[in-house]
Amino acid sequence: MPVQKLSVLGSTGSIGTQTLSLVKDLGIELTAISGYSNYKLLEQQALEFRPEYVCAVEEGAYRELKVRLAPTGCKLLFGREGLMEIASRDSSDTLLNSVVGIAGLEPTLAAIEAGKNIALANKETLVTGGSLVTRAVRERGVALLPVDSEHSAIFQCLQGNTHLRPRRIFLTASGGPFFGQGREQLREVTVADALKHPNWSMGRKITVDSATLMNKGLELIEAMWLFSVSPEQVLITVHRQSIVHSMVEYEDMSVIAQLGFPDMRLPIQYALTYPERRPSPCRPLTVEGMSNLTFQLPDRETFRCLPACERAAAIGGLAPTAVNGANEAAVELYLKGEIGFLDIGDIVADALSLPGLEREDFSLGDILALDSEARLRATDFAQKLSGRR
Ligand code: NAD
Ligand code: MG
Repeated sequence: MPVQKLSVLGSTGSIGTQTLSLVKDLGIELTAISGYSNYKLLEQQALEFRPEYVCAVEEGAYRELKVRLAPTGCKLLFGREGLMEIASRDSSDTLLNSVVGIAGLEPTLAAIEAGKNIALANKETLVTGGSLVTRAVRERGVALLPVDSEHSAIFQCLQGNTHLRPRRIFLTASGGPFFGQGREQLREVTVADALKHPNWSMGRKITVDSATLMNKGLELIEAMWLFSVSPEQVLITVHRQSIVHSMVEYEDMSVIAQLGFPDMRLPIQYALTYPERRPSPCRPLTVEGMSNLTFQLPDRETFRCLPACERAAAIGGLAPTAVNGANEAAVELYLKGEIGFLDIGDIVADALSLPGLEREDFSLGDILALDSEARLRATDFAQKLSGRR
């Protein structure tokens, strides 16, 4: 059913602001919003949309908003607990989760428990908690709709054929700003270079993930949970133009693709209007836009995050949590200028040496504990790497 009442966690981010730009035209009521530290934007959003709940995760932002939002009647919440309260208690039928990182996992689970449908941008939710989330979705009978553009594309290519099993999925990757360069060239790239994505404007963490190809590794694992496919069924395909957003191959060898100029508003809107389609603000595709589409294999020797994620996907269990946690820590260090670009891949690969990753029966507590261990190990390993320089 198209969404009627929506809560958005991470409303001040790239996906969050694009979501808010769509809701009025779609006739959706916004019931809750949240952000980390950007209280000015959160205040603006609160004044414009008058949601029931506003949550600031960072303390300084919460204190600011306490004064600023007092006259509005919005209920102000604080921290992780505030996110959990929104997820489990606000009156929305759907939670759009566009928080960045594993911080999105617990609110997703809480919203499913509360019987809400989930529109999921936060891929780290499925990478770390895929088994718990998909089980909870089945048990509660709620919908889990992808917002990630590739997964939305796959989901769209499956429409009308949901009773069939795809033979393979072509998961497309832009390749990021550095595709085609070798390790020698990448040794000294700056943070500013990594943040210049050729096709998409996104948050800092996912932009770095796109440059390292970690993003595609995370998306491989995301696709396995969303579409019940094995890693061997997912063919990662570098497609520099980001016009074909992914493709599904069926048993008869027919391949169905979804195309469009890169614009996240389209997959966001589809998750909000599914199973319907509505007019959107996106630019129509042109013949010129399709005149030079290329497809290549990724370079796994240069971009080591990708094979590390592929190994994690094959191991299963807690291995995806290990590579994800190490990556979150490594990207933070990289953005602070404390490690080099290529170190990220080595740190992520090293996380697979943590013990006990294969276990299949684990709880939310086990995931969070392993995430902490992976971050610690990543920080130690980063120190060793900088000591060697
Ligand atoms: P962003 O950094 O622009 O926004 C992140 C949002 O989460 C902000 O509202 C921020 O205030 C909030 N936040 C940050 N840290 C938090 C924490 N610890 N706890 C709670 N909230 C926190 O990121 P983004 O680009 O919008 O990406 C959000 C998610 O969507 C990521 O998982 C990303 O991989 C995924 N995604 C993004 C895009 C895109 O085009 N931006 C595309 C596909 C998937
Ligand atoms: Mg994507």
